[in-house]
Amino acid sequence: MNQLLGGCLCGAIRYQITPPLLFISQCCCKDCQKATGTGHTTIIGIHKDQLALTGTPKIFTNKGDTGGSVSRHFCGTCGGRIFTSGDAPGDHIMIQAGSLDDPNQITPSSVIYVKDKPLWDKTDSSLPHFDEMPENPMQI
Ligand SMILES: [Zn+2]
Ligand SMILES: [Zn+2]
Repeated sequence: MNQLLGGCLCGAIRYQITPPLLFISQCCCKDCQKATGTGHTTIIGIHKDQLALTGTPKIFTNKGDTGGSVSRHFCGTCGGRIFTSGDAPGDHIMIQAGSLDDPNQITPSSVIYVKDKPLWDKTDSSLPHFDEMPENPMQI
């Protein structure tokens, strides 16, 4: 797989991801719904060293499901979401797949936090569904 390029809507923040991608999931958690205004969001798990970023995102931090802090990095000008970091997954971050220049470069392999999924939101029933975060999302 080649490098993946992406950025926010206005272009103030740009990034490059060096593969391999560790996991790709559709996340239906309540916080993702509130942060994106959608029924679920699609995330790409990578090690933070795999991301090369230009521009300075704004950061919003709150408590995640496991009690640790979760920080959402987004463009302060256009509001475009770029990635999420936190205490857990530690060195790993989650890129918002919709910010890729070509989102068809990736394919989700699981659906997580199904317990929060809105009734009207549709996910791919051929993928494994998990009520919360699986113990090791990298082994799905
Ligand atoms: Zn922007
Ligand atoms: Zn989520």
